[in-house]
Amino acid sequence: LSRQLHRTTLKIDLTALRHNYRTYRGKLPDHCRVVVMAKASAYGSGALPVARTLEDLGADYLAVAYPEEGRELRLGGIKLPIMVLNAEAYSFPLLVQYDLEPVVHRAEQLRWANNLNLRVHIELDTGMGRLGFQPEEFHDLYAADKGMAAAAVASIFTHLAASEDPLHDSFTRQQLATFDRLYESYLEGGGAPVQRHALNSNGISRFPEAAYDMVRLGIGLYGLGDDSLRMHLQPALSLTTTVTALCDRPAGQTIGYGRRGHIEDDRRIAVISIGYADGLPRLAGEGRFAVRINQLLAPTIGSICMDMCTVDVTDIPGVTVGSEVEIFSPDHPIELLARAAQTIPYEILTNIGSRVHRIYV
Ligand code: PLP
Repeated sequence: LSRQLHRTTLKIDLTALRHNYRTYRGKLPDHCRVVVMAKASAYGSGALPVARTLEDLGADYLAVAYPEEGRELRLGGIKLPIMVLNAEAYSFPLLVQYDLEPVVHRAEQLRWANNLNLRVHIELDTGMGRLGFQPEEFHDLYAADKGMAAAAVASIFTHLAASEDPLHDSFTRQQLATFDRLYESYLEGGGAPVQRHALNSNGISRFPEAAYDMVRLGIGLYGLGDDSLRMHLQPALSLTTTVTALCDRPAGQTIGYGRRGHIEDDRRIAVISIGYADGLPRLAGEGRFAVRINQLLAPTIGSICMDMCTVDVTDIPGVTVGSEVEIFSPDHPIELLARAAQTIPYEILTNIGSRVHRIYV
């Protein structure tokens, strides 16, 4: 217990992770392969422990954003094929050295990859408006033979812009139809059949009929899928800290920087060991968010500081120095914090500081 005191900890429940992986897997046809997104330190959870768990579970592929993330996985002993979403010229030697497969979305990347005999994943922009060949560029790539015939193409894929949002379902279907049309004309133009993929987590739960040959599973692994699958998922992450100090403050005092915390009547205030350097956004301060202590809610008071913040525990019996504080957990959903901070769970997770302990249970 003493080692845990004053420690801010992200607990990753690998049993829940396994359950969630199997739940998504169960929505997919047997032949369909699963790419697990291990980028951004596996959404803040720790790339290697998550990748090892997924490798053991039989995931087929991993995806990272940058080659350096792929190198970390290889140095940690990961053998699964790894695709790299953002591969620029500087990084091509790393791709070769660590057996990584670049995503290609510009013709020059395909040339670099062909020169080095790298397997590539070709990204098509069907409406995301971000990376990917436009339809006419893709046509040029194979019809005018700008290197595609000679390339080792591991897959062709697209990314959905709003797979979670029923308001945009007709747009999503349009994206999938564009993807189908592009692939058909590629085949008609003499292209060799290749594996295709389009779905992210919410795509899998909402459009499983478009699973093609592979899917790319990210946030759902942590139990944060959209409502249609949510009840079958288990929240896998808990961020907790401890109470460092307690003090009774009289009416009229102010709390913290800028004197932004106002005590209207006598209050009991706890200082807890988490601040914005640990990933608790400043927007969660000044009463916009409540942490959970002894199963009750303690609203923030005053500003979030770098290493700590203050919460009002007047109405919570039994709080002592060392009491556990839930920032989010299966009983205190991360969406509450995301909403308070005007953001999404992805951003909360990927901003959890490097000094926060990660434990795997
Ligand atoms: N595919 C691509 C290209 C992505 O960039 C991402 C995540 O950002 C994903 C799949 C996974 O998305 P999600 O975490 O929503 O499942």
